[in-house]
Amino acid sequence: MATAERDYYEVLGVGRNADEAEIKKAFRGLARQVHPDVSDAPDAEERFKEVVEAYEVLSNTETRELYDRYGHDGLRSGGFRPSQFDFGNLTDLFSAFFGDDFFATNARTRRGRGADIAAEVEIELTDAARGVQREVPFRVAIACSRCDGQGVEPGTDVITCPTCGGMGRVQHVSRSAFGEFIRTQACPECRGRGELVEHPCEQCDGAGQVLEERRLDVDIPAGIHDGQRIRLSGEGHPANAGGRAGDVYVRVRVRPDPRFVREGDDIFSTVDLTMTQAALGGRVSVPTLDGDEELEFEPGTQPGQLVVLRGRGMPVLQGFGRGDHRVLVNVAIPRQLTDEQRDLLARFDESAGEETYRPDEGFFEKLKSAFR
Ligand SMILES: [Zn+2]
Ligand SMILES: [Zn+2]
Repeated sequence: MATAERDYYEVLGVGRNADEAEIKKAFRGLARQVHPDVSDAPDAEERFKEVVEAYEVLSNTETRELYDRYGHDGLRSGGFRPSQFDFGNLTDLFSAFFGDDFFATNARTRRGRGADIAAEVEIELTDAARGVQREVPFRVAIACSRCDGQGVEPGTDVITCPTCGGMGRVQHVSRSAFGEFIRTQACPECRGRGELVEHPCEQCDGAGQVLEERRLDVDIPAGIHDGQRIRLSGEGHPANAGGRAGDVYVRVRVRPDPRFVREGDDIFSTVDLTMTQAALGGRVSVPTLDGDEELEFEPGTQPGQLVVLRGRGMPVLQGFGRGDHRVLVNVAIPRQLTDEQRDLLARFDESAGEETYRPDEGFFEKLKSAFR
């Protein structure tokens, strides 16, 4: 995180109207220049974090808009926090943005970093509306307790590899018209280790590691969308030689709710009124994200009519406010009538005139807006 708050556009050296490609290009160039593995400047690390933070904000439409309008304060009150990272996991960040080869020439960032783990959790739409904490299980590699991580069955010995005599490397000599070629390569028998395990550990099959189930409480933010991922930094597989552990990426599945359709941050649902409820008016209970709620319908409510519950949709993830909830009115017409009921309706029809069914001019427009 930058201590002094510099303008993000200035940090990346782009104009206020820079498009996505320009921002990405600027960041890419700067990242290569100021990365602490490349730069000798004493403040390289701070400078680099600043560049990453600027890119993080400006590359996301939501946060960029927030920043453009309200600046650093707007981001803070909008709940934006720059990613916490150390330089071990940056390679992954860059791989995600730029493809795999970004730091391919720089082995330092890659060495000793544990592998990432993918996990998944499913929540209800109503949980996504409020935000929820969930226990997420995943399996992480730990050193095998039986063989102490060595892969060798206790009480047995490792033997010196007979193929390479313990050297771990073998030489291939080939003759051709141009002379003799000597090629050295890793021993195929012991894979370069110089020794062979005659009796692999029974618990881990010689791998030296076993998978252990772990559970972590994960805070799922309100407004999360189906398929979004939450990173648990450093909770992944451990590294081999004391390096940094990998991360866990929790994919959040938001189960569809049969009562609602979600479109971005808006919620859409229907309500069934009976023919008489629509004609006479009345109170009808409708489901909302905040629980059932009674809505008052005027006499003469029409099918296709729309009730907009402002600010009652999904919360805006890392932003302000909530979307809207739109309720579309459906009117149920009787499918089966007794003789008496048919009689009543026939008599009603005789008394009905043009004024009874006064047309609603805006009806088609309202219907169209419901499907926007
Ligand atoms: Zn073992
Ligand atoms: Zn060998």
